[in-house]
Amino acid sequence: MIDIGVNINHNDYLKDLEETLLQCHQAGVEGIICIASDLSESKKIQILCEKHPQMWFTLGCHPHQAKSWTTASAEKLNKLIEQKRPVAVGETGLDFNRNYSTREEQIYAFEQQIDIAKEHSLPLYLHERDAHQDMLTILKHHYHGEVKGVVHCFTGSKDALHAYLDLGLYIGITGWVCDERRGQDLQEAIPYIPNDKLLLETDAPYLLPRNIRPRPKRNHPKYLPWVAAEVARLKGIHVDDLVQQTQKNTSRLFF
Ligand SMILES: [Zn+2]
Repeated sequence: MIDIGVNINHNDYLKDLEETLLQCHQAGVEGIICIASDLSESKKIQILCEKHPQMWFTLGCHPHQAKSWTTASAEKLNKLIEQKRPVAVGETGLDFNRNYSTREEQIYAFEQQIDIAKEHSLPLYLHERDAHQDMLTILKHHYHGEVKGVVHCFTGSKDALHAYLDLGLYIGITGWVCDERRGQDLQEAIPYIPNDKLLLETDAPYLLPRNIRPRPKRNHPKYLPWVAAEVARLKGIHVDDLVQQTQKNTSRLFF
């Protein structure tokens, strides 16, 4: 299986990347998509992935880092994409929960990245928190018809899910679904995600699946099978079928 969301730029993984990849392999995680949070990290992971055929990358600027997006950023991102093509543009989107960047900064960076993704026919790697309506409005304004992309780390309700599916988006599910305290809305929404729109991710090192025993200190892409098992249980299908299906979805969207 392939983990479609790893924040690889973390000392725990980079101090011995071969070991990180070996542990993934031993857990049945044959590939990882490394997600970028800003343009300097984009450049770094683009280089990192060159030597590892089981690693892919996105290029873009996360809404938290939107304040670092300047009038020169679009051209920089275009250049990076031309150097070596990513599997998606992002993480990009809106996060009105923490507002590390202002709403205006987030919207500006987001809309520019949408234009770039369209120009290069790349999918969007979307991050949204507490900004569902604004995200829908912006996407509908920029796309006439289907939006190619994934709502990564979806944690919303059934209604939010249907609105994203109506746009044609894929839905990325993390270990949030294993959280007995705050994962309830998501758990109820899982059966409504069509099998051909579902993607699996850890968002490591964040969002450790809380059902792992003994509980590890930090998340790792090698824990993706825990996410897969929980999603399969909620959908009432065999985990092998789920993995096979999500693998197909990953290829269809990104490769
Ligand atoms: Zn995110």
